[in-house]
This record gives sequence, structure tokens and C-alpha cells, in this order.
Amino acid sequence: MDLDRDFTILAVSDNCTNLDILSSILTPYYSVKMATSTGEALNLVNGLDINLVLLDIAMESQDCHEFLAKVKSNEDTERIPVILIGDSTKPEYEELGFALGAVDYICKPFRSSIVKVRINNQRLISKQIRAIEELNLQDPVTVISNRRGFDNRIHLEWLRAIRDKTSLSLAIADIDHFKAYNDEYGHIQGDVLLRALARKFVSMLRRPADFVARWGGEEFVIMMPNTELAGALTHTEEIRKSVEEMLVPNLPTATISIGVASVFPSINSSMEELFNMADSALYKAKNSGRNKVCGFS
Ligand code: GH3
Ligand code: MG
Ligand code: MG
Repeated sequence: MDLDRDFTILAVSDNCTNLDILSSILTPYYSVKMATSTGEALNLVNGLDINLVLLDIAMESQDCHEFLAKVKSNEDTERIPVILIGDSTKPEYEELGFALGAVDYICKPFRSSIVKVRINNQRLISKQIRAIEELNLQDPVTVISNRRGFDNRIHLEWLRAIRDKTSLSLAIADIDHFKAYNDEYGHIQGDVLLRALARKFVSMLRRPADFVARWGGEEFVIMMPNTELAGALTHTEEIRKSVEEMLVPNLPTATISIGVASVFPSINSSMEELFNMADSALYKAKNSGRNKVCGFS
């Protein structure tokens, strides 16, 4: 475990013995703050730069759940990971804690090695999240992933598909006549449409590994791992239809055309080929009337 004095942990418990034990385990590595009530903890969370909260839910559980709900509903604190500390005989507390947004659970009595590992894991995850943000993988207009973010993800899924011998589908969606739309309603309203579409796409992703990004301009890409062409066509048709029915305040409806391709990646195939196939299917959709889904065959 690394020494990281910039990583500040807030331990919250009404039991001073628990706080002492946690402090002795953690202070050699991190900055540790302590609070003996959730009220005090809330002040610290809002006032200091806290990186992780350890919350003892043996305290009045209602208090703890309110504290968690408050932390998770505040934009400034919602991203602070909260690890619950509890009694292994009360799994219902653990369950509710997770439902409220806790990331992990440490059982009492404390085992120093387990406490250290669980906390270090969260610290590493936080670091990775920061690194991702810094790499600027998000498109500022739509706040979904940009092309670079998509490239990273599809690269991982590509390798996974080779390893697991599963299929990988790719859809490219392009707004129909968007130039005319911009000319008619203005670029700002065009951006409003782009954002609404991005939200729609995200809301329609079904599986955890499905992923959407703004590829550039008025094009979006959707990756569907472990999905063959027939399934990908059905799913993207639902997306196309739902876009056609989407209502955006003060804007007319827009339509999209989608090209879909699917492969079983192998060490002899290239991802570029998959993109070319989806692109050529999109071309077919555009040339056969738009507002359509076409698959590459
Ligand atoms: P098609 O149905 O063939 O796709 O026609 P189209 O007009 O959508 O395609 P074309 O490639 O001719 O035009 C794309 C337009 O997308 C041009 C540009 O004004 C618009 N566009 C690209 N990026 C943005 C953006 O970030 N914001 C807005 N508002 N418009 C954008
Ligand atoms: Mg285009
Ligand atoms: Mg277009």
C-alpha cells in the first residue's frame, strides 16, 4: 500500500474505540479525520477536501442512511466514495447502504489487512477516475464519451471478444439532413438536439458493456459487445424509432440513419474493417431514403 498523504479519509463512528483502531491502521499512510456524529461528518464533508468516507452503520441507522442520502444527492460530494463499516449479522443495513450509493462494506471486528486493501482499492479507483477525466474523454457538447473514449473502450472489448470468441457489433448513427436543421433553427438549437440525442442513446443502452459516444459532428457510435447482427439490428431499430418519436421542446422532430455491422473479432481481423462495414451500411441507409437502419451483409 502506498503512502498518500494527499488522500484524506473521514472516519465516522460514535464508538471511539472503533475510531482509534481505524486511525491506528490508516494514519501511517493517509490523512485521517474523525467525526463522532453524522452531523459533524456532514460539516467536514462539505468543508474539507475529503476523498473517502468510512461510515459506521452501527450508529443510529436512520442517521447513517440520511447522511448517505445527503452526501449522494449533493453535486459537490456525490462522488466521494463511502465505505460502510458494519456488523456481519445485519446484512439488511449493508443492502440499504449499497442502495443508497455506498461502494463497499467492511465487517467488524476489523482485520487490519482487509481494511487497508479495501481502502487502497477505492483510492486506486478514484485515481483512475481522475486520470480518465484528465485525459479528456468526454465530449463537451453532449457530455457523453468522445471519440477517444470510444476508441479506448472498443479496443478493450475487441480484445475481450477475441479471447472469449464472442461477437462485437458496431452501429454508426448519423442525423438526417442536419445541415438543413442547423440552417433553419440555428447552431445553438442544433446543439440542443445533439444533447437530447445523446441522452436518448444513453437511456436506451441495455447491457452494462454497451457504450455510446459522439464520434464527431452529427455522428454517434454505439458498441454492443457479445451481440450478433440480428440482435444489434433489432436494438438499433428501437433506437431509431424512439428518436423519431422523441419530443424536444421548441424543436421539430429529427430522424437518424444507422449503419450496423457485426464481427467475431480474431487476431487476423481489423477493427478498421468493422468501422468500414458499419459506414458502408450507413451509406446504404442514407441512399435508400434515410430514417432507416441497414446492416452490413
Ligand atoms: P445527411 O442526411 O446526408 O447526413 O445530411 P446532413 O445535412 O446531416 O449531413 P452533412 O454532412 O451535409 O452536414 C452535417 C452537418 O452537421 C453540418 C454541420 O452544420 C452540422 N454539425 C456538425 N457538428 C455540429 C455541432 O457540433 N453542432 C451543430 N449544431 N451542428 C453540427
Ligand atoms: Mg455525417
Ligand atoms: Mg447527417
